[in-house]
Amino acid sequence: MQYVQTSSGVWEVVIGLEVHAQVISESKLFSSASTKFGVGPNENVSFVDAALPGVLPVANSFCIDQAIKTGLGLNGNINLVSRFDRKNYFYADLPQGYQISQYDHPIISGGYVEIETKDGLKKINLERIHLEQDAGKSMHDQHPTQSYIDLNRSGIALMEIVTKPDMRNAAEVSAFLHQLRSILRYLKTCDGNMDEGSMRADVNVSLHRPEDPFGTRVEIKNVNSIKFMMSAIDFEVNRQVEILESGGIIDQETRLFDAASGKTFVMRSKEDAQDYRYFPEPDLPPLVLQQSRVDAIRATIPELPMAKVRRFQQNFGLSHYDASTIASEAEIANFYEEALAVGSMNVDRDFAKLLANWLVVELFSLLNKEGLSICSGKVSAENFGKLVMLIKTNVISGKIAKEVLAMMWETGKLPADIVKEQGLKQITSTDTIESALREVLAENADKVAEYKSGKDKLFGFFVGQAMKKMQGKANPQVLNDVLKRLLLSE
Ligand code: ADP
Ligand code: MG
Repeated sequence: MQYVQTSSGVWEVVIGLEVHAQVISESKLFSSASTKFGVGPNENVSFVDAALPGVLPVANSFCIDQAIKTGLGLNGNINLVSRFDRKNYFYADLPQGYQISQYDHPIISGGYVEIETKDGLKKINLERIHLEQDAGKSMHDQHPTQSYIDLNRSGIALMEIVTKPDMRNAAEVSAFLHQLRSILRYLKTCDGNMDEGSMRADVNVSLHRPEDPFGTRVEIKNVNSIKFMMSAIDFEVNRQVEILESGGIIDQETRLFDAASGKTFVMRSKEDAQDYRYFPEPDLPPLVLQQSRVDAIRATIPELPMAKVRRFQQNFGLSHYDASTIASEAEIANFYEEALAVGSMNVDRDFAKLLANWLVVELFSLLNKEGLSICSGKVSAENFGKLVMLIKTNVISGKIAKEVLAMMWETGKLPADIVKEQGLKQITSTDTIESALREVLAENADKVAEYKSGKDKLFGFFVGQAMKKMQGKANPQVLNDVLKRLLLSE
């Protein structure tokens, strides 16, 4: 959808995002009030958050560390001197009458997020990341004639991550948000939970002729899932194409997305920075950082998802799909590597691939069925690794392994113990397999005759019957070999 072709020519879609990411922190940006989610209204409100006269904000140094960490993880420049500013506007859920934000001296400048597109890797550049406080929440559905205000969110630290207008279609936006969310979760600076509102994004959309400068953008607010964002972009592109094609011009405005109708509606005409009368926050000193502080935080940045995907592909030979599924969450990647450690010191690629496959297919399906995360502890990484090792070393077949996994899930027992108790060890003895096969062939003389007259498909039938006789425990390779030999000599 990057280009929209009409009879008059081609329009190119241009998109930039402003993401608000709630900082993971026990207390708020400028007060010691708790940030706990799900408590009763106005339980987490300090005098600062309620803007009582005479109280002063104090910057929370942990929140600042979190912003620095985010900036480093997103390849940005950490500005050793930045500043807080007042963004002035009135709203009932904003008791101060202004939001403390950062305007022309943000804590982070630049940076980028690498995404995968159908044409390969693409860098989505960042304009800036700044710190600001969240507002409270107005509740209009509690009383027929009154609105209520909950200030629990008032003063919670947000990072506003502003991209350059570098995205060209909805798929890139989706890839960007997924990648950003994954990185923030790895860094543990934002939980990325869009349902609970801890990650929210405003999307800016414009169209232009590829040879012309960028067109006027429209900002869409209130899009609280990636799926809705896709629909909002689609709707907005079509709306703008219609206006431009009929000779109209796009008004720079702020629109709201309505999930029920899939449409966007005008909220207000776009305000300009000067409308907010930004000025330096007089109650806070400039934010001055020591390089040593930045360096110490840099040392804590973990290996990030893209680097993990590459390492998993290069060192372990995983498919791109398996590698990126496993690397999408730090907990899954850690589980995988812990399970992998069950094998030899030098990674055996076959084991690594088998393990990835069993994790992504079998264990994920059990976890999904019960809505559990990998950290649920139902099956430990070590035990899971041991199970896959039993398959790898031909102790059990894949089919039996599924049963063993189900029993591990229920009982928490070791896979080897289950195999022993239940007598599930794979049978590789040629003699035992041969005698089972001989029985099958004797019982099905008619089918043997059909097979000989060219009905090749019956080979599978004989295999199935013999497997059944042996409770699924026969080594499939041996079974196949012996069956071929027997049928030839029949
Ligand atoms: P403002 O200062 O008015 O908020 P910015 O230049 O900071 O404007 O841009 C805000 C957001 O709009 C950024 O995410 C940016 O990528 C995006 N943006 C800017 N110009 C365009 C455009 N022509 N089309 C789409 N998005 C744009
Ligand atoms: Mg801006």
